[in-house]
Amino acid sequence: MASHYQILIIGGGTAGIMTAAQLLKKKTITSIGIIEPANTHYYQPAWTLVGAGAYDYKKTGKPMKEVMPTGATWIKDYATSFNPENNSVATRGSGDLKYDYLVVAPGLVMEPSLIEGLPEALDKGVVCSNYTDPKHTWDVIKNFKGGNALFTQPATPIKCGGAPQKIAYLAADYFRKQRILNKTNVIFATPGSVIFGVKPIRETLMKVIGRYGINFKPFYAPFKIDAENQIAYFKHVAPDENKCVLNEDNEIGEESIEDNIIKMPFDMLHLAPPQAAPKFVRDSSLVNDAGWLDVDHHSLQHKTYSNIFGLGDVAGLPTAKTGAAIRKQVPVVVDNISKLINSNKIGTKSYNGYSSCPLVTGYGKMTLAEFDYDGNFTPDPKLKQMLVFDSSKEHWRLWMLKKFGLPYLYWNKMMKGQDV
Ligand SMILES: Cc1cc2nc3c(=O)[nH]c(=O)nc-3n(C[C@H](O)[C@H](O)[C@H](O)COP(=O)(O)OP(=O)(O)OC[C@H]3O[C@@H](n4cnc5c(N)ncnc54)[C@H](O)[C@@H]3O)c2cc1C
Repeated sequence: MASHYQILIIGGGTAGIMTAAQLLKKKTITSIGIIEPANTHYYQPAWTLVGAGAYDYKKTGKPMKEVMPTGATWIKDYATSFNPENNSVATRGSGDLKYDYLVVAPGLVMEPSLIEGLPEALDKGVVCSNYTDPKHTWDVIKNFKGGNALFTQPATPIKCGGAPQKIAYLAADYFRKQRILNKTNVIFATPGSVIFGVKPIRETLMKVIGRYGINFKPFYAPFKIDAENQIAYFKHVAPDENKCVLNEDNEIGEESIEDNIIKMPFDMLHLAPPQAAPKFVRDSSLVNDAGWLDVDHHSLQHKTYSNIFGLGDVAGLPTAKTGAAIRKQVPVVVDNISKLINSNKIGTKSYNGYSSCPLVTGYGKMTLAEFDYDGNFTPDPKLKQMLVFDSSKEHWRLWMLKKFGLPYLYWNKMMKGQDV
């Protein structure tokens, strides 16, 4: 195996494979190496549906060798550290690999230990997460008999920020169908101040919350899980406020045990674990103060090393970490690298922070949040061809897009380097 590549990519996930596949369409590319240890490539967006029993988990993965673009060399290994001064990356078993250009795309990692008790609790009994084992989520939802169904998310950035609430809506809809919603308190507790940052989407989601009678708890940051006694502990994080005010009608049995600490019993718990950039990235000189890859928000070029680019979940960008965002980031990285190779000048394409979140609001229902760095609602004009004229409202057609259209586009177009 070569020890030098014109372009070296760390990570064969959504970002790494799409970038390689699009770069390989450019004539001036002489060699691409992709460092990727995993045997299976997952289409993670479908895990939300798996957790609600609406998608087959087996269909969410494909052998890595099937998605590796023809023409790229798969280095089946782990990147372990960077030496940007020497244009090289160290690996666990393949030695140091040199590059002309480096694309850093190893995604992010779950850090359950940032919540006390979570590592022991996760994916066991009534505690579940679509982020780690969506099949277990479905078991928990299916076997739920009533009581407190608690859904929450951490204070760290997470991938697909909407996923923790999507499963709450699907579960509520499932409980409704099973006729147990009337003896269930569905609770969605989040450190955030609002249900969603984009106004027209927020308005729809508040109606959805009302429809299912969900207890929405903003400013709730989980910090401890006592799985044995089925209790979650939250810090109330509202700015300028130390006292937690509990609803007068406190049927969910939450208790304020100190000034801003809340104790909440649960009969099932779904949560997104805290998340961070992989440790070898965090330990490197390539990160910003928050520990994410320090790239320019528009060119995706590293702020210190001009031959390094970063995209996907690992990148320190002030927008939602999604595959949809990557779809718009890849052409910018590809244009910049090919212009640098051809003319030693960076390209002119600019990433505007586009991201999107398909908010499934029930079986057969979805609203599609598409937005930019400024939180503007930016629906794709192509939706009109699907007869969706207002994607901020719930549509059956959007559900069909999520369940059938997007997986098809992912495996057959995006993974093949086609612009969609
Ligand atoms: C439950 C859930 C629901 C989601 N829903 C949606 C949705 O509806 N819409 C949407 O657009 N997005 C959604 N996402 C987010 C989306 O899947 C991610 O944003 C996207 O996959 C990130 O791509 P990535 O390439 O940055 O990381 P990944 O796709 O995670 O790939 C990273 C790759 O890097 C590899 N890697 C890790 N460490 C190393 C190392 N040391 N050396 C080399 N390789 C390494 C990994 O093995 C992996 O293959 C969801 C995610 C989850 C978990």
